[in-house]
This record gives sequence, C-alpha cells and structure tokens, in this order.
Amino acid sequence: RQELQEKKLRLMEILRDMDDVLVAFSGGVDSTFLLAVAKEALGDKVLSVTAASDTFPEREFQLARSLASELNVQHLETRVSELANPEFVINDANRCFHCKNGLYNHLLELVTKYGDSYTVVDGSIMDDLGEHRPGMEAARALGVRSPLQEAQFYKEEIRGLSKEMGLRTWDKPSFACLSSRIPYGTKITKEKINQLDLAEDFLLGLGLYQVRVRHHDQVARIEVEQQDMLKVVAQHEAISRALKSFGFSYVALDLQGYRSGSMNEVLKEDVTV
Ligand code: AMP
Repeated sequence: RQELQEKKLRLMEILRDMDDVLVAFSGGVDSTFLLAVAKEALGDKVLSVTAASDTFPEREFQLARSLASELNVQHLETRVSELANPEFVINDANRCFHCKNGLYNHLLELVTKYGDSYTVVDGSIMDDLGEHRPGMEAARALGVRSPLQEAQFYKEEIRGLSKEMGLRTWDKPSFACLSSRIPYGTKITKEKINQLDLAEDFLLGLGLYQVRVRHHDQVARIEVEQQDMLKVVAQHEAISRALKSFGFSYVALDLQGYRSGSMNEVLKEDVTV
C-alpha cells in the first residue's frame, strides 16, 4: 500500500515536470487513472482529448466524455479515420503502428492551437511492454510519453488505486480497438467493423463482462470468460439469431475462452502478412 502511494507520488512528480499536459484519453482503465492523477497534480494545466474513429465504438466515446466531465477536466473531441489510410486497411502485423501514428500526429497538430508547451501523454502501462504493441513505437517516435510506464505501473496496481480514488473504471473490462478482431492479412472494412460493433454491443447488453467477437468472414467466434460460457449457451438461440442478423452465417463459441490478443497467437516473428 505504502509502495503504491509512493508510486503515485512519483507519477505526480513526472507529470508536474511536464508542466502542460494533453492526455490521449480513451476512457479505459489506464488513461482514466492517468487523467485523474494528472488533474490532481496539475489542475487546469491538463487537457484531455478523445478521438472518435471508425474502430472506436460510440459507447466508449460517450463514456470518455462523461468521465472527463466527472473529473472536471477540459475535454477536446476530435475525429480520425483509420480506414482512409491504405497501410492500415491491409491489416499487416504493423496495423497498430499505422493507427497510433495517425492518431498521435493528429493530436500533436491539434494541441499546437493551445500553445507549444504541451506534452502529449498516453495510457500505456508496464503490462503492454511484453506484448506485440507496435503502437508504442509510434508514440516513442513522435515524442509522445507514457508516464504510467515511466512510473512502472502494472494493471492490478492501477485497478487498486482507481478503486481507492473512487474511479468507476476500476473494474471496467479491458477493451481493445475493434480492428483487433479481424485476422492479420485480411482487409479491415467498415462493414466488418460495424458487424463487430453490433455483435459485441449485443453480447455486453446480455450482461457478459468481457467479450470479444473475432471476425472469420462468415463465422463469428465468440470469446467470453470461462465462467460466462454457460450464460452464452443458455441464450444460444437469441445470440445466434442476433449475430446472423448482423451478417454472419455461423456463430461459434471459442472453448478456450477470452484471452487478450488471441489474433496475435498465429503471428510468427517474421510475419509480413
Ligand atoms: P490501446 O492501444 O487501445 O491500448 O490505447 C493505448 C493508449 O492510446 C490509451 O491508453 C490512450 O492513451 C490512447 N488512445 C486510445 N484510443 C484513443 C482515442 N480514441 N482517443 C484518444 N486516445 C486514445
């Protein structure tokens, strides 16, 4: 506990050294914690920005907007379109780099309107370092900083402190962009993203906690936590009917259950697809 409070103080110091800060704010567990601590450390010197985009569900955007208002932080709203970038659409193993490169370039441009003293920060954490995360390379290359990594924060610590601080995101399921549901090497399209958005929204509406729908053309492969599998089976007819109405021909439940980054399982080191 003591150690955690010290880490938080360290984070506040890192943020204070930056002076004016723009938080790239997705409304997820990590960037909400970062925004709350930045507000505590810097007061009105912190701005937040959320980008609406093709791959970011409206539900998440609305949540980010209300969280920024609850934290009493000025919130900028903007829009980016990943699907306008052909390098993103081909969906190779660097997809995440192209997405974040576009996003951060856009945010850096946007913040110049507020003066040149702003440091743009994102919510990447220690847990992200071990994973395939080309988006972080984009951040480093553009000078976007990750204070939660600088202060060495792990997910469980962020959830614990968020709970203490009364942040309602403390037990929010982790969310990744909708294009991470489409196998590498197959094109990202507006149609596929819409199908996934509708399908996941429907399943979350049934009270399932952590949900991924993976897009395998005609097949929707549902991943939920192992303890939620029976809930899916119990409602199989409604789920199958709904997902078929969104354009899938077959609806399957993955017996291995939810795991983050399951589309990375087939990536080899030398992958270029
Ligand atoms: P992710 O790759 O989804 O884990 O996101 C990494 C970081 O990028 C988040 O912690 C945010 O700082 C930032 N981010 C992601 N999505 C958005 C968005 N739509 N608007 C602003 N920042 C975002």
